[in-house]
Amino acid sequence: MEEVKQGRTLEQARTQLLTALSPLPGDDLCPLQQARGRVLAEPLVTPRAVPGFRASSMDGYALRAVDGPPGQPLPVVGCSAAGAPYGHPLQPGQAVQIFTGAVVPHGADAVAPQEEIHLVQGQISSPMITLKGPIHPGQWIRSSHGEAAAGEQLGSRGQRLSSVDVARALGCGLCTARVHARPRVALLVTGSELRPAGDPLAPGCIHDSNGPLLLLLLEQLGVDVVDHQWVDDDPQRLERALLTLAGRSDVLISTGGVSVGDGDRVGPLLERLGTLQFWRLFLKPGRPFATGTMAGARFFGLPGNPVSAAVTFLQLVWPALQVLEGSPPEPWPRLRVRLTSPLRRRPGRPELIRARLTTDHQGLPLATPCGDQSSARLASLQGADLLLEVDAAATELPAGATVMAQLLRLPLL
Ligand code: AMP
Ligand code: MG
Repeated sequence: MEEVKQGRTLEQARTQLLTALSPLPGDDLCPLQQARGRVLAEPLVTPRAVPGFRASSMDGYALRAVDGPPGQPLPVVGCSAAGAPYGHPLQPGQAVQIFTGAVVPHGADAVAPQEEIHLVQGQISSPMITLKGPIHPGQWIRSSHGEAAAGEQLGSRGQRLSSVDVARALGCGLCTARVHARPRVALLVTGSELRPAGDPLAPGCIHDSNGPLLLLLLEQLGVDVVDHQWVDDDPQRLERALLTLAGRSDVLISTGGVSVGDGDRVGPLLERLGTLQFWRLFLKPGRPFATGTMAGARFFGLPGNPVSAAVTFLQLVWPALQVLEGSPPEPWPRLRVRLTSPLRRRPGRPELIRARLTTDHQGLPLATPCGDQSSARLASLQGADLLLEVDAAATELPAGATVMAQLLRLPLL
């Protein structure tokens, strides 16, 4: 089959992978303060209306709109401050001084802002006001359920909670949320040539960058990393490390050793120790990529080249982690961008070109590729906002050409 020889397209791989996955069992009752980034296992519902009373949205005077023709003096009989309501109903012909967020007294149906009244009698004991202009019922009053109605759903099952979701639920008086269990992730960095930064380098060795990059990305995405290790390319040690980490995790991610070279043992080991779902992608960067299951864990064998590891992580592993955590995977937003410079490339595989996003004088999006697109070169990913989706056959795209691009951005709010 052509697809198997050259590898799956990203779309085929994504579909095959995600349809094979379902949310992990288990949930927790999580204090809302700690629930940002967690996925709701049950809808979040407020039992009460918020604010729960009619509140002023201005500093001014609460009154009845019918009493307020301009020039008509109204005695100010009291004050309603935030947290300290005026304790009586307002009588016809009266006004009550009021501040933003304070309870609008029963009987009042409008608030005249401070700037729209004259204080006609200055004594502190019995001031009077007149209105400068007309006033309408409902003016500057927030409804008692303006933020949320009693029984309103604040978040749905499968929703990943943002800072604003958490703040709104806390504002409605909720303290906890029922959230899905998070996948326990383990990371195995493989390669005899790798040393951690700070260690001396023997000839031909390099410092590990995939390990730190993946750990930082996982942390940024709020993923629980339960263990991470390094192992050389010795087959027995590799096998032992894979089985140990798979036994401790729901998801095991490895990098390196997944191509078809003699030193690359991850694919055959996965076939022998577990089940191989597929191996190889029709994609640049990221051709070597294996996934399947091993010792009860979902396994992802990412390529060794740092850009390939990062790109396949963002395209396939992150969506899979979302499904395992019970949330529908959110694709990266896509937009059409215009190239600021020509793009030349070797045809053969569809490519995800790393590029920076700017805008032209009309605010339309522009993309500037981040230099040499070698998958060994992390510099091509540094500062990248976009992955430009370029067809397998494309050789040259002129400056000004439009291309579809994925925007590598997570919502802040
Ligand atoms: P491999 O997939 O193991 O054949 O590795 C492909 C390339 O990526 C080789 O040049 C490796 O030295 C390099 N590489 C593999 N793992 C890492 C890593 N953790 N950090 C940086 N480079 C790596
Ligand atoms: Mg290797």
